[in-house]
Amino acid sequence: MVVSKLLTKKYKASSPRTPKNLKDNQFSPFAIEIIRALKKSNHQAYLVGGCVRDLLVGIKAKDFDISTNATPEEVRKIFKASRIIGKRFRIVHVFRRNELIEVSTFRANESKSKNISEVIKDIDGKILRDNVWGTLEEDCLRRDFSVNALYFDPTKNILRDFHNGLQHIQKKILVSIGDPLVRFEEDPVRSLRAVRFSSKLGFKISNDVKNAIYEKGHLLGNISNARLFDEFCKIFLTKQGLNNFNKLKSFGILKYVITTNNYKNNSFGNKFQHAALVNTDLRSQSSKSVTPGFLLAALLWPKLIEAAKENGSLNLRKFFRNMDKIIREQQQLTAIPRKFHGYIKDIWSLQLKLETRLGHQPYKILNHPRFRAAYDFLLLREQAAEDTQGIGNWWTKFQQINRPKKIEMLQTLKKSRKTPVEKKFGFLEELS
Ligand code: ATP
Ligand code: MG
Repeated sequence: MVVSKLLTKKYKASSPRTPKNLKDNQFSPFAIEIIRALKKSNHQAYLVGGCVRDLLVGIKAKDFDISTNATPEEVRKIFKASRIIGKRFRIVHVFRRNELIEVSTFRANESKSKNISEVIKDIDGKILRDNVWGTLEEDCLRRDFSVNALYFDPTKNILRDFHNGLQHIQKKILVSIGDPLVRFEEDPVRSLRAVRFSSKLGFKISNDVKNAIYEKGHLLGNISNARLFDEFCKIFLTKQGLNNFNKLKSFGILKYVITTNNYKNNSFGNKFQHAALVNTDLRSQSSKSVTPGFLLAALLWPKLIEAAKENGSLNLRKFFRNMDKIIREQQQLTAIPRKFHGYIKDIWSLQLKLETRLGHQPYKILNHPRFRAAYDFLLLREQAAEDTQGIGNWWTKFQQINRPKKIEMLQTLKKSRKTPVEKKFGFLEELS
């Protein structure tokens, strides 16, 4: 059943401003089954958040969240394949094959829970734990922005909108539920979310929210690096990386997600970060795989080069010694899962080997599991540095030809070497 069609139908009657572009979109049938099951057990249940918002805006919904008055334990009992997760927010994951639906219980607003130990705040007002159950109306108040507080009941085709979310979608504006100064204190990550949603949806950010980002952005310094890594991935790997990068920079909060952000316009650092973000956006727009490892390697590369620079050339000892240090510094902001450490360092070290192409090494490099990533990285470096040495082209050709031609290419390369090999590192633009 195309539920969005029904949504359109319903709201054509009551709201002439309902967008017309809902037709091609669909809610997950599994999510609808979950809602039916919850309702059969006499609970309320709605689709909520990103999926309703995105479908109304005309974007394909990515995941489907459900909100209910059933407690996590009650939800758990209804669905065999489910698990209660989380401490800060206890929710239930309900599974079927490779699909996972998050079911969260309505949360109460703060006043109700003031004397209850289930809401715990730190000295800055940040909510550390929040597990007081409430009504639908109360749950609404706990959500961050009006467009994220739309609840849809697909069994009755009813949309509940307590904070003018529909109107704000029409006006393309991101509006906070409640005073954003207070809301961003409770959870500073909402600053990042505001920027992210404005890019994703093409919405303006309301003035009071902008002001709250400036005023409260510094509280991002208290957020756990694990949570910021999750947010980092959503900010930079979901089609709007460059846009988000520029906006976060202008709000002065980029420094809470990446350790390098002060490169002047037109410097190599700036152009390379820019090129890497554009590349990542294009890849995710065309549904190619994107990994935080590659993007982190790229965003941090100018810093590595800077640290390894000595009298206008590259000091190899410093290069290798600084790799771990730079990863460690970034980890203090955003955790970097272990598996990416080796990946990032491989891409970096392969840059040297891709340049020197000593002896039989090029054959080995071609078989290196990270060759493709390192080669893409090299092309981006050349693009940003406007490098004309042609090493990227050399590798493009070397991959495509047969063995005898490869031998020829290596012989030509050997003859063309005038300087001792160890002085052959390019990085000219990057080091200037
Ligand atoms: P997307 O999944 O595209 O990032 P989303 O709006 O679905 O967007 P989620 O993080 O999946 O974002 O959260 C689902 C819903 O939960 C949100 O729409 C919002 O209503 C609520 N929510 C999530 N995080 C917060 C938060 N930090 N503060 C208040 N409400 C939140
Ligand atoms: Mg979501």
